[in-house]
Amino acid sequence: MAQDASALTLDYKVQLYGGDWEPMKYTVPLEALPCRYGGERQYFHCPNRQCARRCEVLYSYGQYFLCRHCCGYLYPSQKGDRLDKLLEAKRKIGARIFEDWDGVDGWCKRKGMHWRTFEGQFRRYRQLEDAWQGEFYHRARGLLGEGVRL
Ligand SMILES: [Zn+2]
Repeated sequence: MAQDASALTLDYKVQLYGGDWEPMKYTVPLEALPCRYGGERQYFHCPNRQCARRCEVLYSYGQYFLCRHCCGYLYPSQKGDRLDKLLEAKRKIGARIFEDWDGVDGWCKRKGMHWRTFEGQFRRYRQLEDAWQGEFYHRARGLLGEGVRL
């Protein structure tokens, strides 16, 4: 892996269906955002161009590395099941507390909201997120490979 300020190059080999090892090489855009608690943090942009969502971890799925949302879409939840309920509860909080809520994720505190309120709600949001991830990995076990973090 090579990294400069604005992109990370992923360079690896994949073996699909027991065939030859195929070299894979592409860059993943990075973005530095001010951190919630001061300083700044780097995020990936999902290499799936239709998504390009900001994310903290990329997961190996098939021959690519994708954000958890892309992986999630590959295993859609059924309306009303546990995954769906967790996602819905998370969405409700997210839409309320994030300035830049995009329907799936948010990163900046809503303007005018008190930090204390935000932090309480954000903790709950993270709990739902963790529960969602736990359930999701349980379902996708064996299909998702390791994650890459910055
Ligand atoms: Zn994605």
